This record gives sequence, C-alpha cells and structure tokens, in this order.
Amino acid sequence: MLGNLARWLRILGLDTEYLPHEDDDELIERALKEKRIILTRDRGLLERAIKRGASALLIKGERLEVWLAQLARKYGIRLVIDPNKSRCPHCNTLLKHVLASEFEELNMTTWRPPVSKEEYWICPTCKQIYWRGKHFRSILNILKRAKEISKLLDINSR
Ligand SMILES: [Zn+2]
Repeated sequence: MLGNLARWLRILGLDTEYLPHEDDDELIERALKEKRIILTRDRGLLERAIKRGASALLIKGERLEVWLAQLARKYGIRLVIDPNKSRCPHCNTLLKHVLASEFEELNMTTWRPPVSKEEYWICPTCKQIYWRGKHFRSILNILKRAKEISKLLDINSR
C-alpha cells in the first residue's frame, strides 16, 4: 500500500527504497547502515526500529495526500516537482533530461516517445520515458491538495 507513496517520494526527488517483503530486522539494519528513515504503517516495526536507534515514522490515514502532508510537515519536504531532480518512480534511479532533438544522438532511432514534446526525462536504468502530459497535471493537483492538508495540520498543532 505504501508502494504508491514510495513512487511519489521518488518523483519528488527523494532517494526511496520500497521493500515490502524484507523482514523487520533486515529493514532496521539497512536503515541504520544507509541512514534511511523507515516509513511504515506497522506499529510493531516502528517500536522495534526506534528501540534500536533507527529513525522511523508511523504513516497514518488512508490517502496519499494525507501521507504527503505528514511527511512535508515532519521532515520539511517541499511538495514541489522539479523533474530534473526526480527519480524514476519504478526503480529510484535519477532521471536524465533529454531534448527531443537528442534522441537520435542517444542511438534510439527506432525508439520514439509516444507523444511529441520538446523535452523528456529518461530513466537510465529501466529506460522509461517521462514528459509533462496530462498525468503531470494530475500530479500537480495532488500536490496542491497535500499542501492544503499540510497547512491544516500546522493550524491544528498550534
Ligand atoms: Zn527506472
């Protein structure tokens, strides 16, 4: 369920691993070693992680916008997308900015994006191509709602 959140954090440019099948000990070990924050809905994991000195946060609520708002408040994450800093939502690799005119140079002549745009972002690892399309506007709408919720959380905590 938090896989969706992981994809969003990558789009926002945050180095995010998603490990739904790892056991608690391995997750905590890895978080400590790589200085990562564990985001979980499992209170047991949260308590074990904190006991062992790892950073962890319990994700509450059922909606993506609420999750993003919580993280924005807690860690000062800016809910703004700069595609030049985004990571691939599928595999967490930093995206590479590519102009339409550069596709030929990339030796990808048989491979074309399905839409005609000036600029794209390519994942060097899984070769996914991204661009500012309809989906991008729905991303901006979700971020707008998350920002509004984040402001409400601020007011409620005063
Ligand atoms: Zn990728």
